[in-house]
Order: sequence, then structure tokens, then C-alpha cells
Amino acid sequence: MTLALAKQSCPIGTESSTLFRRGNLAAAWIVLLLAALHPPDGLGIPLCWARAVSGAPCPGCGLSRSASCVVRGRLAQAWAYHPFGLVVPVLAVPFAIASLLPRDVRRRMNERIRRDPRWLNAAYAAVVGAFLAYGAIRAVRFWLA
Ligand SMILES: [Zn+2]
Repeated sequence: MTLALAKQSCPIGTESSTLFRRGNLAAAWIVLLLAALHPPDGLGIPLCWARAVSGAPCPGCGLSRSASCVVRGRLAQAWAYHPFGLVVPVLAVPFAIASLLPRDVRRRMNERIRRDPRWLNAAYAAVVGAFLAYGAIRAVRFWLA
């Protein structure tokens, strides 16, 4: 029962999911393209409505600037903007590479993931949990400062 519920609620590795589907492959290219086009020091205008309303950074504040720095090799600056910007290419590049592979290879990769999605779901949960924890800690530090 618990396993069945976990499988239903896991966004990546369910029986019906297809990790290397067209939408995910296209999203990877879009993310990498936006990171390359985005100015590394920002657009000069505030984009975050949460920060505009509350003054506190949301969990994602600085992420686009960080990803922009990562694709330019400015890793220290990327870390300073948002540590998870360093994760963006780790997530996007494999999908971009997968989009260049023959369809049959991607089908076999999807089948392999569907056979045992636990590691992928665990990694997904770890990244999302760490991202939210980072955002919460940063917000608390902002309010206490
Ligand atoms: Zn924000």
C-alpha cells in the first residue's frame, strides 16, 4: 500500500512516466538557452514578485543569474547568487545530450528507469528537499538579520 502510494506520488519514475520524453528534452534546451542569454548580473529589473512583496528572497531568487554564471564558467559567482545554479547544467545537459541520441536508445533508457525508478525518485526528492531547505534557511536568515 505504501509503495503503491509512493509510486503514484513520485513525479519521475512511475510506470506510466517517460523521463526522456520530448517535453523534458525540449525543456533542457530551453533552460540552457535561457541561461546562455540571461545576463550574468541580472536584467536590472526585479523579477521576483515574492521579494517585491515581502522583501525576503524566495527559494529561487538568484537562480537564473547563477545558471547564467555557470554556463559562462563563473562558478564562484554562481555559488554566491544561488548554489543550486550549479545543479542546473547537471540536470539539463544530460537531457540535451539525450535529445541527440537515437530514439531507440532513449526508449531503452526510459525502460531501464521504469524497471527501477527508486534511485531517481530518491535523487529527485533529495534535490527538491535541499532546494526548499536552502530557501527556508535563507529566508529565516534574512528575517533575523
Ligand atoms: Zn525570488
